[in-house]
Amino acid sequence: MADYDVIIIGGGPGGYVCAIRCAQLGLKTACVEGRETLGGTCLNVGCIPSKALLHASHSLHEAEHNFAKMGLKGKSPSVDWKQMLAYKDDVIGQNTKGIEFLFKKNKVDWIKGWASIPAAGQVKVGDEVHNAKNIVLASGSEPSTLPGVEVDEKIVVTSTGALELPKVPKKMVVIGAGVIGLEMGSVYARLGTEVTVVEFLDAITPGMDSDLAKTFQRALKKQGLSFVMGAAVQNVDAKKTKATVNYKLRKDDSEHAIDADVVLVATGRRPYVEGLGLDALGMKMTERGQIATDHWKTSVSGVWAIGDVIEGPMLAHKAEDEGIAVAEAIAGQAGHVNYDVIPGVVYTAPEVASVGKTEEQLKEEGRGYKVGKFSFMGNARAKAVFQGEGFVKILADKDTDRVLGVHIMGPAAGELIHEACVLMEFGGSAEDLARTCHAHPTFSEAVREAALACGDGAIHA
Ligand code: FAD
Repeated sequence: MADYDVIIIGGGPGGYVCAIRCAQLGLKTACVEGRETLGGTCLNVGCIPSKALLHASHSLHEAEHNFAKMGLKGKSPSVDWKQMLAYKDDVIGQNTKGIEFLFKKNKVDWIKGWASIPAAGQVKVGDEVHNAKNIVLASGSEPSTLPGVEVDEKIVVTSTGALELPKVPKKMVVIGAGVIGLEMGSVYARLGTEVTVVEFLDAITPGMDSDLAKTFQRALKKQGLSFVMGAAVQNVDAKKTKATVNYKLRKDDSEHAIDADVVLVATGRRPYVEGLGLDALGMKMTERGQIATDHWKTSVSGVWAIGDVIEGPMLAHKAEDEGIAVAEAIAGQAGHVNYDVIPGVVYTAPEVASVGKTEEQLKEEGRGYKVGKFSFMGNARAKAVFQGEGFVKILADKDTDRVLGVHIMGPAAGELIHEACVLMEFGGSAEDLARTCHAHPTFSEAVREAALACGDGAIHA
């Protein structure tokens, strides 16, 4: 007889959410996690610590730039970096302990250690082999680097090292203008570091609506970040306390170099499957090293996979949704994830958030669409808090008015986007949104105004 109905390998947002839902559905569940704490990349070295540092550094920026304007005068705060890191660690601790509590509450066994799968239906941790009717792989991802760039997590760091630098560097080069690079770059820029972002492509945040990406880059430049675009990094020459990033500009092959105290390599993440024994199991993988799945079923019977280790956006909430869907599928229910409505947020200030199709995608598909756009300069609340920069852009089907994509840069964009997510989940139209009463004065009014702009016109434009 099996020891468990389900054993989940990995206690990140995919794995722990799946475990809790399995237990709630009456399945005998265990979750194996090799780290000292639960919560995976997200809680330990990802979403949560980065947001703590973004919050702290944004507060400093507010004090330096906006307090005096509001008549708040006095000694301006200085940075106690050790204390800021302690605050970040405290936030991590509160959250990882919270998952431990939820495991106990829901009667999920946490098997501590690194797991492998010696055969279908078996999970080995240390010397012990546990039997399971179902195994869910939620082993996540790890930072990837470039050829010629060796990470030492001291001078040349990944996001993990960037979350615990011994001091705030004077000069930092960020390789890669994706979400993680820009979030960490803006933390350090606000703390006084001279930050240069070196990007291979000609635009930041690949895949983002280009209108939004351009406005976002302008906002970051105003905050002091420098950009070198279209640059192919050749190598990083690291010395004891400094490093030189050597790159070639793609347009003319000219060679250049920049020095930095710290180089952050933020060129993406790759699936993590080490030590699981997948080769011996004959597990089918994709060309990009992910576990190949069909509705989260792998090629090995009784083994499922979710989160960063499979295809799709590497986002915590995508992993969580898949965790719930797989739990439901194992329990004999439908299990569903709507991959068309997965929001993406960049937690800089201003925030940037998107869901659904970009204008470029709609053009490529040849789909007729209309655009409703509204600037936060027309939003009283945003102006009152010095956040009039940015806009809401709604893309709706030309004939049916159904909302196909929403792109926002501005205050609380990461919260506002969910209004669009709910609307899109229900197949709503721009008119549905425009006819919904929105409280005044809120940032959300800008979303409604953009919806109005899809029809007869915004009021405050
Ligand atoms: P993970 O969170 O990577 O968890 C996998 C877990 O499995 C790990 O704890 C690992 O130790 C464990 N494990 C692996 N192999 C084994 C084994 N053999 N035995 C036992 N345990 C094992 N996403 C967002 O949505 N929003 C954000 O704001 C955001 N910010 C980020 C900021 C940074 C700096 C980084 C690096 C990532 C960020 N992400 C963000 C991405 C997010 O962290 C991931 O998408 C998410 O953690 C993926 O969840 P997961 O459960 O698939 O894997």
